Amino acid sequence: MADVLEMTNFIHDIIDEDLETKKYGDKDILTRFPPEPNGYLHIGHAKSICLNFMTAQKYKGACNLRYDDTNPVKEDVEYIDSIEADVRWLGFEWKERLWASDYFDEMYDCAVTLIKKGKAFVCDFNADQIRENRGTLTEPGKESPYRNRSVEENLRLFEEMKAGKYADGEKVLRAKIDMASPNINMRDPVIYRIAHATHHNTGDKWCIYPMYDFAHPIEDAIEGITHSICTLEFEDHRPLYDWVLQEIGKWPTPPQQIEFARLNITNTIMSKRYLKALVDDGSVEGWDDPRMPTIAGIRRRGYTPEAVRDFCERIGVAKANSTVDVAQLEACVRDDLKLKVENRNVVENPIKVIITNYPEGQTEEMAIENNREVPEMGDRMVPFSRELWVDGDDFMEVPAKKYFRLFPGNEVRFKGAYFLTCNEVVKNDAGEVVELHCTYDPDTKSGTEGANRKVKGTIHWVDAATAVKIRIRNYDYLMLENEETGEMELNPDSLVESWGYAEPLLGEAKPGERFQFFRKGYYICDELSTDDEKVFNKIVGLKSSFKVKK
Ligand code: ATP
Ligand code: MG
Repeated sequence: MADVLEMTNFIHDIIDEDLETKKYGDKDILTRFPPEPNGYLHIGHAKSICLNFMTAQKYKGACNLRYDDTNPVKEDVEYIDSIEADVRWLGFEWKERLWASDYFDEMYDCAVTLIKKGKAFVCDFNADQIRENRGTLTEPGKESPYRNRSVEENLRLFEEMKAGKYADGEKVLRAKIDMASPNINMRDPVIYRIAHATHHNTGDKWCIYPMYDFAHPIEDAIEGITHSICTLEFEDHRPLYDWVLQEIGKWPTPPQQIEFARLNITNTIMSKRYLKALVDDGSVEGWDDPRMPTIAGIRRRGYTPEAVRDFCERIGVAKANSTVDVAQLEACVRDDLKLKVENRNVVENPIKVIITNYPEGQTEEMAIENNREVPEMGDRMVPFSRELWVDGDDFMEVPAKKYFRLFPGNEVRFKGAYFLTCNEVVKNDAGEVVELHCTYDPDTKSGTEGANRKVKGTIHWVDAATAVKIRIRNYDYLMLENEETGEMELNPDSLVESWGYAEPLLGEAKPGERFQFFRKGYYICDELSTDDEKVFNKIVGLKSSFKVKK
């Protein structure tokens, strides 16, 4: 945990040095965020987005949004809109929006350059044969019998591959590097393969497609990216990244690939395949289900872009993989909302309170502060009368130890109103508590001298005559770790729907508006709300269960 919390910022150290040595002359820093358009972005992508865009901001440079669409069978333009909306929601704007597939012609020319230099050859091995001859970590690979084809023959065969003369898998273009290299990525890697597939952008123009390790450095170099930030699993690919650009030789100062640890979070699975399965089998309501770790999901959940950016900054950039406690993300959300949102009174599992000594038919408008920590947010007027609702959790017929809320004989402060004493508990035939008969002390009105008298408990309440019934969606983690196997499993109770009574103002809430339900947690008005019924998602509770591990 410690090395994640510590802001290593080693990426900025590298950039600082490159600026000092004028590695890129007077050129501005240029980064890129390169999603494959094959799914919705998730919180892990947010980490990469923040890193790339914030690094660009720090150095007054820019960041490109580039769709890495070199794999014709996986791409789906359906995701484009969501990707752009998500990047913008996080608060970033790209310099250019680009498509890797726009560089197919140039990539092809680069491959021809390598062939002409004797640095690439057409190989007739199929995928199995390539794997069988690749060797292992301890043994070198075996050279392909096609490795020594002449430049002329390679040019002709590559041209024929492009022209569609061969079936998928019949031939590949391989870089000619070193079958004995200790780095398996350097053992004559495949750089072009045949795929008779229609590409969303280039249609049927191509039936050969570049492999990621060949395409990505070229994409970066064409755009003039200075620092190409990627996740740790590409560390062993960096020698190939550098080799490709060096051998093509078109770019005097090629981009620098820098790797960082991918973000993992407890109780969270980010694999696109897994998330898609949850959507497809109906385990969640969609890609933007508030329990999903997608950016669309956390947005609907009520998390703010400020909180997500803060989280990405706080966890820093690590060089070793580790897992961040989800409570840290929640803490950022809480910290951001604390000073921004207004309080509202909401009670769940309501119990009726009748103030037997309060005049029938009378209503007082009580001024209650919107946010105790931010006086500038002012007061709101909340009606108070003879019949109220209190939260089921705020009454115990037989009080537990240190329970200072309502119980028979006890006096508590009704926040922003008066002190009430519970005198009588009324039950129905089933023995359930249906009403509490209380008396109020008229000399304890909030804001007056009498209210300074000490009383141990303070609870909130809702005026029964004007209460608005709301739907509440209480969320827990979507995934739980099985304590025996350590595997993550779907939490069957990740959504518990309830309802409550709210003070009248909440009846006017609009989708997207956030509140603190006083003493309960932070909530956002969901888009499912209608004029008749408001629906609220629980964003996060008031207190953290997170403890820093020592
Ligand atoms: P897949 O390979 O299954 O498509 P991916 O998560 O790698 O999934 P990409 O669209 O390729 O998806 O990712 C775009 C960028 O986001 C990449 O630069 C990738 O390194 C980065 N990224 C993805 N997941 C994480 C993560 N958990 N933490 C940090 N960066 C991530
Ligand atoms: Mg990927």
